[in-house]
Amino acid sequence: MRNMNDLFLHFLRDMYYAERQISKALPKMARAAESAELRQVFTDHREETQHQIERLQQIFEILGKRAQGVTCEAINGLIEECDELMEAMKEPSPVRDAGLIACGQAVEHYEMARYGTLLAWAKLAGQTEAATLLEQTLSEEKTADGLLSKLANTKVNTTAKAA
Ligand code: FE
Ligand code: FE
Ligand code: FE
Ligand code: ZN
Repeated sequence: MRNMNDLFLHFLRDMYYAERQISKALPKMARAAESAELRQVFTDHREETQHQIERLQQIFEILGKRAQGVTCEAINGLIEECDELMEAMKEPSPVRDAGLIACGQAVEHYEMARYGTLLAWAKLAGQTEAATLLEQTLSEEKTADGLLSKLANTKVNTTAKAA
């Protein structure tokens, strides 16, 4: 890696790997959720994630590069943490839902960090088409994070506290 283009491509590959791992993890998180609303948020975001993967493929195409992932240990760790939590709390409960929301938000925040950086670099390079695609995805990640916060603050946390 020598220049900003190489660095951009590296993190694009990082996110290509991460999104595919997330698309495998979200159905498990949806099944683990007790709250129907939480299940819906995870299910809807899984659908969005499929489109995010397609957008990344479009960006690889714009750059004339093969769509290829590179292992992201950060997302592996965040998903592992979520798996451990589900293992530690085998039965569905509001408390487990609160934990699932916490795990989900950690994933969304990682994605917001990466897409925020990729967007800044795409703009810097004058890659307007890539920037538009990254903006769409970043906005979906922020919305997913907001929906999880709202669900925690309006319902899940109070129910969990009373449990
Ligand atoms: Fe995503
Ligand atoms: Fe990463
Ligand atoms: Fe996301
Ligand atoms: Zn995501």
